[in-house]
Amino acid sequence: MGNKNWHLGTKCIQEGWEPKSGEPRVLPIYQSTTFRYETAEEMGDLFDLKTNGFFYTRLANPTTDAVERKVAALEGGVGAVMTSAGQAATTMAIVNIAHAGDHIISSSAVYGGTFNLFYKTLKELGIDCTFVSPNATDEELEAAFRDNTRLVFGESLSNPSLDVLDIERFARHAHAHQVPLIVDNTFPTPINCRPFEWGADIVVHSTSKYLDGHASSLGGIIVDSGNFDWAAAGKYPELTTPDETYHGVTYTESFGNAAYITKCRTHLMRDLGMSPSPTNAWLLSQGIDTLHLRMPRHCENAMKVAKFLQADERVTWVTYPDLEGNAGYELAKKYMPNGSCGVISFGVKGGRENASKLQGCLQLAAIATHVADLRTCVLHPASTTHRQMNDQQLADAGVGADLVRFSVGIEDAEDIIADLKQALDQL
Ligand SMILES: *Cc1c(COP(=O)(O)O)cnc(C)c1O
Repeated sequence: MGNKNWHLGTKCIQEGWEPKSGEPRVLPIYQSTTFRYETAEEMGDLFDLKTNGFFYTRLANPTTDAVERKVAALEGGVGAVMTSAGQAATTMAIVNIAHAGDHIISSSAVYGGTFNLFYKTLKELGIDCTFVSPNATDEELEAAFRDNTRLVFGESLSNPSLDVLDIERFARHAHAHQVPLIVDNTFPTPINCRPFEWGADIVVHSTSKYLDGHASSLGGIIVDSGNFDWAAAGKYPELTTPDETYHGVTYTESFGNAAYITKCRTHLMRDLGMSPSPTNAWLLSQGIDTLHLRMPRHCENAMKVAKFLQADERVTWVTYPDLEGNAGYELAKKYMPNGSCGVISFGVKGGRENASKLQGCLQLAAIATHVADLRTCVLHPASTTHRQMNDQQLADAGVGADLVRFSVGIEDAEDIIADLKQALDQL
């Protein structure tokens, strides 16, 4: 089963779990750490990577496996590895091919946790990161590359600044230096953007956002396009020479275009153990079943809210890339023609004080340190996540003191707008 020609909605529902005759129609939760075998030979062959099968949930599990195949199908990849959280997916995607003494390039418009990971933790591990603006010129991008650069990283639609990455251009520069482009596709999801179609080589997600969609489980996933030629690049010995901890297997020889994603599992899951619980994988699968219905509704509602805010005199500016005239509009039309996502940011007259007050005046929209799920939520970073910063530091971080981050859910747009209106009336 599984069909390359299926449309995205069909894939959301039908890909992944493929029950044989008499098996449960719905993906079962295999909540078991281990799997039983009849003979020592069967178990030995699994450990030698000679046969496929499950032996320990840290490496693979039937429930998780079904969800991995579903997301790989949606992105158009050859394989996927699910992780305990989005942060784990990004970490593994990098350290699978970059080591102490290596260098990476990242767009500066990335999630705060990703920025800290690259700026602090990877640096402590000996991996240097150069940050470039998502709007960097070709010359600026070229200048960032070094002999020891191993990959380029960016977010297709950045959290929280909503910059749209010029995936094709970033991929062109990466490939000219024979390194892969890794794209975090969390905000648009594969329903609205498929980075592999534009030259990205690896995709990562925080599935905690729209893919789960219900804000019920943390998770991450790494998807391999299978398109990058690791052997031709000549700079990834971890993939192209024997791994003595796996009986001398050479990933590119034994696993072909699935070399990268196989090593992620057999090497990094074995050693780092950032694996998801089977129950969280099952919740993710339930979420993805309706992803193709939820994303258009998020976009439709967000557009109505953005237009309402734009027309209100108490609102000073609105960032939503689907709005004509927005900085990211042209790139959004190219890479996400059916809509971007449900997250909007805007400013209110009266700056920090009124932006903070607005949060408390909202009734339907909950104050929450979360975005991208089916319930509308709001956050004023300057008085919450970024409260230790002064106005100048906030401006430098691209998070003005007046910025309100508004994640539009899939309730009725009229009610979300009425809630915003009554809150603005109280300022
Ligand atoms: C939330 C988020 C992450 C981190 O994901 P967790 O599941 O919270 O670890 C990474 N990238 C983006 C774009 C995010 O929004």
